[in-house]
Amino acid sequence: MIALVLLALQQPADQRDHPSYWQQEVAYTITARLDEPSGVLSGAEQIHYRNRSPDTLSSFALHLYLNAFRPGSRWADADSVEGNRRFNDLRDPDYAFNHVHQVRIMGLAVEPIYPFAPDSTVVRFALPRALLPGDSMTVELDWDARPSTVPRRQGREGRRFDFAQWYPKVVVYDRYGWEEHPLYPAGEFYGEFASFIVDLDVPQDQVIGATGVAVCGDPGWERANQNPSRPVEYQRDYYGSRTPSSDGCAGAAPGRKRVRWYAEDVHHFAMSLNPGYRYEGGHFGDVAVHVLYQPGDEAKWGKGVAVDRTQKALAWLDQLYGKFDWPQITNVHRIEGGGTEFPMMIMDGSADQGLIVHELGHNYTMGMLANNEWREGWLDEGFTSFQTTWFWEVMGRPSTYPGTEAQILALDLDRQTEPPSQVAETYKDFTSYQIAIYTRAELFFHQLRYVVGDETMHRILQAFYERWKLKHVDEAALRAVAEEVSHRDLSGLFAQWLHGTELYDYAVGRVKVIRKGRKSFPPLPPSEWLTRVEVLRKSPGRIPVDVAVIAEDDTAVVRAGGEAEREWVELPTRSRPVEVVLDPEVRTHDWNMVNNRKALRFSLARLFIPVPGTDVYFHRYFSTRSRRDRLTTGLQPTVWYNDAGGITLGYRQRDDYLGRFAQNVGLVTLSTGWGTDNGVTDVNGLFRIRNPLLLQAANLSETFEWFYLEGRYGLTASVEKTSQEHLTFGPIWTRSLTLQWVHPDDFRYLDRGYYDDVGTVELQASTGVSLRTGRSSLSLRFSTGGGLAYNRAGLAASGRSDLDPFYYRGTFEAIGRRQLGGRWSGGARLFAGVATGNNDAAKQRQIYFQGADPLTQLSNPFLRSRGALLVGEDFHYQAPGGAGVRGIDSRVSTGAIVALNLELTRALLTRANAKLFNRASLAAFGDLAQAIGGSAQPLTGDRIRFVADAGVGLRIEHRIGDTRFVTRLDLPVYVSRPELGQDRSAGDDPFEFRWVFSFQPEF
Ligand SMILES: [Zn+2]
Repeated sequence: MIALVLLALQQPADQRDHPSYWQQEVAYTITARLDEPSGVLSGAEQIHYRNRSPDTLSSFALHLYLNAFRPGSRWADADSVEGNRRFNDLRDPDYAFNHVHQVRIMGLAVEPIYPFAPDSTVVRFALPRALLPGDSMTVELDWDARPSTVPRRQGREGRRFDFAQWYPKVVVYDRYGWEEHPLYPAGEFYGEFASFIVDLDVPQDQVIGATGVAVCGDPGWERANQNPSRPVEYQRDYYGSRTPSSDGCAGAAPGRKRVRWYAEDVHHFAMSLNPGYRYEGGHFGDVAVHVLYQPGDEAKWGKGVAVDRTQKALAWLDQLYGKFDWPQITNVHRIEGGGTEFPMMIMDGSADQGLIVHELGHNYTMGMLANNEWREGWLDEGFTSFQTTWFWEVMGRPSTYPGTEAQILALDLDRQTEPPSQVAETYKDFTSYQIAIYTRAELFFHQLRYVVGDETMHRILQAFYERWKLKHVDEAALRAVAEEVSHRDLSGLFAQWLHGTELYDYAVGRVKVIRKGRKSFPPLPPSEWLTRVEVLRKSPGRIPVDVAVIAEDDTAVVRAGGEAEREWVELPTRSRPVEVVLDPEVRTHDWNMVNNRKALRFSLARLFIPVPGTDVYFHRYFSTRSRRDRLTTGLQPTVWYNDAGGITLGYRQRDDYLGRFAQNVGLVTLSTGWGTDNGVTDVNGLFRIRNPLLLQAANLSETFEWFYLEGRYGLTASVEKTSQEHLTFGPIWTRSLTLQWVHPDDFRYLDRGYYDDVGTVELQASTGVSLRTGRSSLSLRFSTGGGLAYNRAGLAASGRSDLDPFYYRGTFEAIGRRQLGGRWSGGARLFAGVATGNNDAAKQRQIYFQGADPLTQLSNPFLRSRGALLVGEDFHYQAPGGAGVRGIDSRVSTGAIVALNLELTRALLTRANAKLFNRASLAAFGDLAQAIGGSAQPLTGDRIRFVADAGVGLRIEHRIGDTRFVTRLDLPVYVSRPELGQDRSAGDDPFEFRWVFSFQPEF
């Protein structure tokens, strides 16, 4: 018994805490010489390796990460799949490499094996003899390494060198075996904790930042020091008696110097060189801070700015997790933008405080709490994104949580997110990987904090760090600590947030209010009122949910467990309850918060605004208000004019939830007849239900509408499905089905040039695809369907003897655009349309030469009726569509047309952030159309065969509120058939001054 206790005490601390945990023992000794002109670092490396695993090893493996940044690597190929050719096209001497030679293990030469060839980011060797548990061996090799001129974490540019993952690096052997894994764009690194002696031989004037401390030689800081009154803290004695001797720094060739670096307990050694570096120093406690920035950075990095921000980050992380366990942190301004973390070193593209807190945070979550970054990237990226958000919250900035949560929710609703815990390269693309491991994983940590509370979360982080620093961590390690500290079963939370992408939806069910004094059992607590609330769980996701009862003078909140599909909670209040609200702080990722409220008192207002909590506002026409936690209803008066109804006054209401649901519209108008002769006075309306919450489904949109609009009534029902596999590349497909009934009943509103006196019922199926690659875009759309025309006398009788009741209608449209370089771009549109039975279809369903057909304009009050503001006698508006021959009279139509529209534009000015004038450009265009068959045109008495136009135009792009539109003025100075032209007069020549105007692009 006593002997056993003694044995237990002799075990290393980490094995006592975690009997199954072990990590290998590794020590590197590297001597390397940099040849600047070729960019090649040549090294000799000795690795001491002790097998602390319970397994007998028969092989050994090294990462050669620089081999990713060259043609043919898995990285380069993964890039190419996404249309990103960073490394696949690089030639010598621009690409990176890391070659090994003369590898000797246990003193014997061994042959390299490249298990992922042609990728060579992992090299494996068979051991000359088995390595037993507890035994050690020595590996010796020579190598050459060169960073690439296109930077990615590593890079070189002239005399600047960012060395990341630059030396043959021992592959981790853990309980899963050798973690041999090629390097891909998605997923970072995993390394054995080790000690490093690195002897660098470089030109005399280089300034060096690196992992570890410079035990001898001159890293160049003294000469570069911008604050000479503050002596440089070298910390040459930090490692005490374990410090290697300083003999490695003697004997440099003329014009060169040798610097010896030493580090312990780090799983990577990074360095950065630049003779131009400026140095500033500082410290937090006994942790030295070294900042190296570029010439020209004096204002943004210098004068203590970056030092101060790095110290501030250290102070925050110190109180969040615990004491920084390494001697120093070096913050360098690297070649590439963004930032990357390495032990004791962060390479940043800017001195932004948030970036520094994020990258330095990784020295804890990744550096000291060393997760496998390609298996569980969420454990470093999500973790550090979370602590950065918390940092800003503590600094008094508005929390970024609401924006992050809403962004993920939108993707969750469209089933675009993947779970955070997934092997990096198995994500469907790089963007999806990033969204999962940074953003969705950040939300996981926020949800954990919400569930356990701030104070417990803080204790979890401290206990996790204390127990696991300088070890490899994983989900199980974090969960065990979190459950132990919080005394909670967190299995559901970890499972759902890390391994799934469930939707969450809680709703208020039944509510019972009991007043004290009346009979109640059990007896009420000492307050006046008790509210019993039924919490319904309507989606698979489960998370505790706060339930609030808002009473006249006080508020009560309890937290429901959120596990059951129905659950009752009780809330006592001192005053009379008014409203029940679920999740008032918006912390449960509840996708439908419209059902989270229940009003407990009757009020007249609820007759008009039935959903409690609805945000009612004055809609200012160009922006619709959208909220995460409640329905919005925008109210607006409307006014417009047409020649039949005269001045038309109206009232419109638009609802919205999340910018995608409940986008309902209600419109009631009164035409006054004012301002016109023999004016019509009538009441019109439109009611539209779009994307009701009840029909929520990924990528699906539904519209149902009833209208009685200026001489037409009818119904529309439409459903559209969008599918897009990748968010940032690849095709976007749409498919839709639309049923529309339109019955014209008052021709005082209608132009006979657009409408026959028949009603139509039409069913259309359409499919489209759009694709964008680099400078080009292409979209195709095809629709097919049919309908029937009728009037009061029946189907066949339609007022026109040649009109068939049944017609086929189909269109095809292909639009291509391309940036041509400089300010030039070109576009082309090919169109074919047919609307015919045995004869032409009804006028309103024919194919139009100039633009869109009349039913397309139905919802636009400025276009739909005779004499409306944009279609007056002297106003030539072009609504894009049809054959697009913009110079032709907009009433000319026929049964079938094929057309080609060409446009060449040159930008005059581009101002991305300007509102009124984003962009202005000049255009030259030509349109050609060939009609097929068809009957004689009333205008000319013949059948049109071919028409064409050409001219120049001006486009100005604007933004008002959330609405973007273009003002387009086209001058079709040439029209092949002038007697069909816009604004024609007798005796017009093909060449005349003509104009058309639009608020929409030509195509
Ligand atoms: Zn990060």
